[in-house]
Amino acid sequence: MSQAITPVRTRIAPSPTGFLHLGTARTALFSWAYARHFGGEFVLRIEDTDVARSTQDSVDQIIASMNWLGLTYDEGPIYQMQRLDRYQAVVDSMLAAGTAYRCYCSPEELEEMREGQRARGEKTGYDGRWRPAPGKVLPPVPEGVAPVIRFMNPPEGDVTWDDLVKGPITINNREIDDLIIVRPDGVPTYNFCVVVDDWDMKISHVFRGDEHVNNTPWQINIFNALGAPLPKFGHFPVILGDDGLKLSKRRGAVSVTNYEEMGYLPEAMLNYLSRLGWSHGDDELYSREQLVAWFDGTHLNKSPAQWDPAKLEWVNSHYMKQADDAHLAGLVQAQLLKRGISAELPQLKAMAALFKDRCATTVALTDWLAMYFNDVNPSADDLATHVTDAVKPALATFADKLAGIEWNKASIAAAIKETIAAHGLKMPQLAMPVRALVCGRVQTPSVDAVLELFDKEIVIKRLRSA
Ligand code: GLU
Repeated sequence: MSQAITPVRTRIAPSPTGFLHLGTARTALFSWAYARHFGGEFVLRIEDTDVARSTQDSVDQIIASMNWLGLTYDEGPIYQMQRLDRYQAVVDSMLAAGTAYRCYCSPEELEEMREGQRARGEKTGYDGRWRPAPGKVLPPVPEGVAPVIRFMNPPEGDVTWDDLVKGPITINNREIDDLIIVRPDGVPTYNFCVVVDDWDMKISHVFRGDEHVNNTPWQINIFNALGAPLPKFGHFPVILGDDGLKLSKRRGAVSVTNYEEMGYLPEAMLNYLSRLGWSHGDDELYSREQLVAWFDGTHLNKSPAQWDPAKLEWVNSHYMKQADDAHLAGLVQAQLLKRGISAELPQLKAMAALFKDRCATTVALTDWLAMYFNDVNPSADDLATHVTDAVKPALATFADKLAGIEWNKASIAAAIKETIAAHGLKMPQLAMPVRALVCGRVQTPSVDAVLELFDKEIVIKRLRSA
């Protein structure tokens, strides 16, 4: 039994073939929180050996999303493609030690092998024809064939580990074959690089998605063949979409970037993501600091969590209400700019303060604030219901009064009162048409507060358009 690796060091090892997926983000989050909880370190490793699909743009996106979520790493990014010499050295040592060997099977030969196995009703897998054994005569080395290098997997016995999420898992070695660790082009494969990296980087706890659970027996065998201490492994169940199927691009947003663009706040994302497969009693809303204080690797769920857009919205609304107005102003400023509107921060700060309570996202907030800068289009229904001939004279009076006042909430409120008194109206009879005309919608915070943030001339112009 190997000794526990100390101190705690975790890692996230994304393949840079796209944006940071929500599942990977959650693994990163748990790995990060676990390291922080135990005062350990968190490493970012870029698994870019799939050269055809890896891009620097994707690396940049992944790092941007990590930064956005505040998942600070202590080392990295470490690129696997910059470690090829190291992998080569380890492969050489394994060839010398007899724990790896060259295999010259062509793809056609392998396919033929599998067909034969299928025909005989056997489990498909490499049959070990190039695997050296005492007294065994290997086939003649064919000319012009670049070999792969295979790991000499132990032929018998069990591989067992106590998964941090799933509990004890045992696989018999007869179920797994001799894995390719170096491709014909000389580039080593995932299951091999990951072991050399986790070993070299002194990773104590490997957290990753369920899809890798079948790889872990091979990796444990390679660790053992290298005489390397074993990290602990934990595999998180997949995240299901709200339709109960695996979250997928085809059915909705799956990258962290998508949610940033949709106007979610990183603190809300962090809070929400952490509840997918982990719990701390009944707590739903908690800070990053609380998460770190609580996250000790217990209370991890074995069954898949379900993505719940409505709950995420609820969590985000909470953080919107709590958000600093100046901070929201900055976010909204950037979003307005994307819509071709440039606005000043002090003005946006006051607007954010007024509207943030009713907005689930910063995009919803921006939708609200757009009325201050762009023309509005009240619905025909709202106009017909509220901007009646009976109320039009009052609207004219109101516009006239506004023209003469000092522009602040108290004076606007006074002008409203005077107008309704003069025309014998009730408050909503004036407030609703004013909202429809000026804001383009009839549900708003109190009219004086909303109007105060407009340019006076715009308000008067919109009122007079009736
Ligand atoms: N590159 C792998 C992935 O993105 C990492 C798996 C692991 O953490 O070992 O799924």
